[in-house]
Amino acid sequence: MVEVPPLSELTTLRLGGPAGRLVQAHVQGGVVAAVREADAAGEPLLVLAGGSNVVVADAGFPGTVVRIATHGIARSELADRRVRLDVQAGENWDTLVAACVGDGLAGVEALSGIPGSIGATPIQNVGAYGQEVSNVIVAVRAYDRVSGEICVLSAEDCRFAYRSSVFKRHPQRWVVLEVSYALERCELSEPVGYAELARRLEIELGARAPLADVRAAVLELRRGKGMVLDPGDADSVSAGSFFTNPVLDDAGFAELERRAAARLGPSVAPPAWRQPDRSVKTSAAWLIERADFARGHGNPDGIAISSKHTLALTNRGAGTARELVALAHEIAGGVRDAFGVELVPEPVFVGHRWEMPPATVEP
Ligand SMILES: Cc1cc2nc3c(=O)[nH]c(=O)nc-3n(C[C@H](O)[C@H](O)[C@H](O)COP(=O)(O)OP(=O)(O)OC[C@H]3O[C@@H](n4cnc5c(N)ncnc54)[C@H](O)[C@@H]3O)c2cc1C
Repeated sequence: MVEVPPLSELTTLRLGGPAGRLVQAHVQGGVVAAVREADAAGEPLLVLAGGSNVVVADAGFPGTVVRIATHGIARSELADRRVRLDVQAGENWDTLVAACVGDGLAGVEALSGIPGSIGATPIQNVGAYGQEVSNVIVAVRAYDRVSGEICVLSAEDCRFAYRSSVFKRHPQRWVVLEVSYALERCELSEPVGYAELARRLEIELGARAPLADVRAAVLELRRGKGMVLDPGDADSVSAGSFFTNPVLDDAGFAELERRAAARLGPSVAPPAWRQPDRSVKTSAAWLIERADFARGHGNPDGIAISSKHTLALTNRGAGTARELVALAHEIAGGVRDAFGVELVPEPVFVGHRWEMPPATVEP
């Protein structure tokens, strides 16, 4: 056991009060033992790694925090020019991406610059610039707190979806111990499926580029949005995108189109990406901007929208979790009033819950 720092010191938002106790686990057996001990004692449990996707309450967390600090990578050759990497949960994600790009392994290059740990990648199926980690995950080794056993989930068992998985839907059940990825041995990237990235690389959408070029372009784009952790960039004191992009059925999207036309003019169409299940994904940043929330909106010394990207809420130094929730409510309420769309937060709330106040404006 180690001295318990406030959780603000362990999160990228630099928010969160004290924890009951903190256990740092450096080996898989230590993770399992710490979780079993907390469960046996009936203590609330928080599994924490990089702290880049959590909003911890100002009152903190009244239980055991198990910090995942396990390390190790095993590599094996597969058929069809593919390589399998079995990676311990506590390894850093971007260090792995950089190593893959350097070793000529394709499949994660567009996921460069995402903070956090390996073990968290399957939780919300991290994704960016047209790639999702679910495309390369082949297995997840986890401790199942219900059965008390260690199990291996296949990619299918993980039920990956946009920013979601079985782990995100059942947050108290599994502790991820190790993630296995299968990558292609190739100096070129996967086909680039994101227009902004293809433009930056000066290639056609769907074309490939050298892995190192894709990584460099992604990091450059991300830095421009404050989306790379950087002690010199106040806009990176965030949890990344605060809201997921809304996914609507046809009726919901038709209503959004109607409201957008009424508010912004008949020629204005909201962004729309048709999903494999026929639903339509639209852009949370577009909705927030069109609901009249500008970059920088908020408290310049506390919680404010990033000055580089409307989707990130940042702590300018003296912010509190309470203030962050208030600003998030204001933004989500404004989008709901303007467009009838409910924004859903992406980070996990710890020690408090996300509950939108009732609507004040009739549709
Ligand atoms: C600047 C910035 C940019 C970002 N950009 C992106 C992006 O482009 N795309 C994207 O998808 N995300 C992005 N994120 C969010 C975040 O980086 C990812 O979600 C990341 O995977 C979180 O990893 P972590 O180790 O920090 O998780 P933590 O914040 O420590 O934990 C997040 C959640 O996962 C759970 N968890 C963590 N490890 C385990 C484990 N081993 N077993 C079980 N549960 C676990 C925690 O209990 C918690 O519920 C960004 C964040 C920041 C700050």
